[in-house]
Amino acid sequence: MSYRVGMVSLGCAKNLVDTELMLGQLDAAGFIITPRPEEADVLLVNTCGFITPAKEESIDQILDLSQYKKSGRCRVLLVTGCLAQRYPGELLDEMPEIDGVLGTGMVDRVVDVVRRALAGERVLAVGEPGFDYDAGLPRIRTTAEHTAYVKIAEGCSNCCTYCAIPSIRGPYRSRTLESIRQEVEALAAGGVKEIILVAQDTTRYGLDLYGERKLAPLLRSLNGISGIRWIRVLYGHPDGITAELIDVFSSCDKICRYIDLPLQHASPAVLARMGRGSSASRLRELVHKLRRAIPGLTLRTTFMVGFPGEREEDFQQLLDFMREMRFERAGVFKFCAEEGTPAAAMTGQVPEEVKEERYHRAMALQQQISLEHNRSLVGSLVSVLVEGKKGSRYFGRTQADAPEIDGRVYFTAGRVTPSPGDFVLVKITRAGEYDLMGELA
Ligand code: SF4
Repeated sequence: MSYRVGMVSLGCAKNLVDTELMLGQLDAAGFIITPRPEEADVLLVNTCGFITPAKEESIDQILDLSQYKKSGRCRVLLVTGCLAQRYPGELLDEMPEIDGVLGTGMVDRVVDVVRRALAGERVLAVGEPGFDYDAGLPRIRTTAEHTAYVKIAEGCSNCCTYCAIPSIRGPYRSRTLESIRQEVEALAAGGVKEIILVAQDTTRYGLDLYGERKLAPLLRSLNGISGIRWIRVLYGHPDGITAELIDVFSSCDKICRYIDLPLQHASPAVLARMGRGSSASRLRELVHKLRRAIPGLTLRTTFMVGFPGEREEDFQQLLDFMREMRFERAGVFKFCAEEGTPAAAMTGQVPEEVKEERYHRAMALQQQISLEHNRSLVGSLVSVLVEGKKGSRYFGRTQADAPEIDGRVYFTAGRVTPSPGDFVLVKITRAGEYDLMGELA
């Protein structure tokens, strides 16, 4: 008998790749994948356990899906991913509705774990977070047909004092250049046009495996694969931006002129407590250098407010930095004290209401900067990757927009009917804080 399996993926794109790999293996083993939880014999939740709100969302999702054990045909509910890796015993002890947990190091054991759970075993499959995939592992992609995430490394060897990821995902491990190229070639042959490279720190790629950073040669190699139109890189680290990498971003035609560089803060005191190597003046210099070398560059970053010891003057330095650098895209997060991290034990924890107030001030400033930037695009022509249609308008993304993270371009097309995956030229006629509006040129 073939069992039906449903899966919910939470958290970031790196977790989504694991979800797709687990679905691929289950499909290859003869399970039937279903998007409808009420039809599934087996349900899996691939959780995120990075910060408290993500953990809460994961628990809520587990509880929601557990209802299908009463009202649907579900016999087995499994929890995978970061939360399972971080709290396996607690999950099994405190949530009787769970039939097993599978950690981040066991992604390639999913078929065995599902079979054992179906046979009645309450499975604890959590060990060292050591799983690394290669191009040969089956995968079912869940993103749009024209876009695929490619994980180039797993784990993290940085020591940001607020982050639990190294303990959940293990030290940084790069895939080989050949394995990544092979995977991208296969994706291109299958019709993928946009590749999005992800890792906890993409700019570190290669250091563990080759003794030097290899993101630049990797990008040059992928730039030569026919069929691929855009190559986007997410999650960089300022310490990993080399002269060679800047040259690749400015000279390779398929590399999106979009750099995602979480900077976290601009106060030297806060950066030092965060364990982030770069000084504020080096960050400033780096941003100027990138803007000079890469015309039309879109810079995305994230900032964290309310880190332990952050004084009003530190926060003011952050706001001044944001005003000066005018990042086209910036996300702002409130610090969460994560169990087991050095920052959680630091003195000078900032009260919640102060974090909240700083969060709103930083967000308001960024919204103004984003709006002004978007307004500067009115009247220009932009290349748009079509994603779909909503009402009478089509929508898609420019090189400056990562899926799920950034805005969209909504446009009218007259009598033309573009399809998802097409590239079209759009004239921008109006701008909001996030989205742009226009018409087919
Ligand atoms: S670079 Fe820092 S914040 Fe990012 S995953 Fe690694 S330790 Fe965490």
